[in-house]
Amino acid sequence: MKTLDLSGGRETCSFCPKLCRHACPAAEAEGSEQATPTFKQQVAIQAASGQQPLDAERARVLYKCADCSATTVACRHRVSVGDSLLEARGQAVKAGVAPPEIQVLAERFAATGSPYSADLRRRGTLGRPRRGEIGIYPACTTLAHDPGGLPRIMTLLDLTQTEVTTALTDPPCCGYPLLAAGLVDAFRAHAKRVAACLKDFERIAVEGAGCAHTLGVRYAEHGVRLAPTVAPLVDVLAAHTERWRDLAPSEPATKRYAYHDPCALGRRLGRIEEPRAVLRAVLTRPD
Ligand code: SF4
Ligand code: SF4
Repeated sequence: MKTLDLSGGRETCSFCPKLCRHACPAAEAEGSEQATPTFKQQVAIQAASGQQPLDAERARVLYKCADCSATTVACRHRVSVGDSLLEARGQAVKAGVAPPEIQVLAERFAATGSPYSADLRRRGTLGRPRRGEIGIYPACTTLAHDPGGLPRIMTLLDLTQTEVTTALTDPPCCGYPLLAAGLVDAFRAHAKRVAACLKDFERIAVEGAGCAHTLGVRYAEHGVRLAPTVAPLVDVLAAHTERWRDLAPSEPATKRYAYHDPCALGRRLGRIEEPRAVLRAVLTRPD
């Protein structure tokens, strides 16, 4: 299991004059000192050293972070405040001082295997992959809020003649919300169940960027071995830009579109160019 060295970053942040507070959406939204990366890191380092143990009030500070990595990009030392706070939340859970909402989440996962109360296992299937076939792993958010999303992805990939099958596991979520909540033991047990479901796959393409990072990086950090290689879905889409260009409308686009990089896709997985290549192809009028 990989152990992240967090203490150096926490110390750096603790002495930093809040140089990245403008980049942190939690600090901006809340407009409070407590939500600044510096303050949150001070709580984390004091808890880790035992200088000021966590109580319910200090533990709540650790949850004022979306793990979006925005400050990592802004920071000249590239400190990952998100990784630090996720680890510190694990201490809060162990000490029994995590916010009560965390227990609600734990119970929800125990009941449905996801952060949703609906049973998402009925909204797709776990395929039996043939050699070379890619498993499409849907985000539980899509299954919950857009049940037609997975069928649409499969229809889209049919156009590229890529051999794909659905890879909806039971439990139907990668488990990241457990890790983000500090429920580390539950996350590891959950991840092992997901990995067992995927043992026959050679490769999976993962719809959600956060799920792709969890399956491809966090599982290994927590000692869970996944048989298939993991790629974000956009990699498969970006391999077929010619096909998308063929399908682009013949009329020139009359609207302007804005693209927002998902945090995990851009900052964690480094996929900046791939989604833009797909969008350019879709919107480019053929000659
Ligand atoms: S992440 Fe970097 S810029 Fe932000 S508080 Fe820590 S050391 Fe300062
Ligand atoms: S990871 Fe995002 S929410 Fe958390 S401290 Fe950094 S910028 Fe703020």
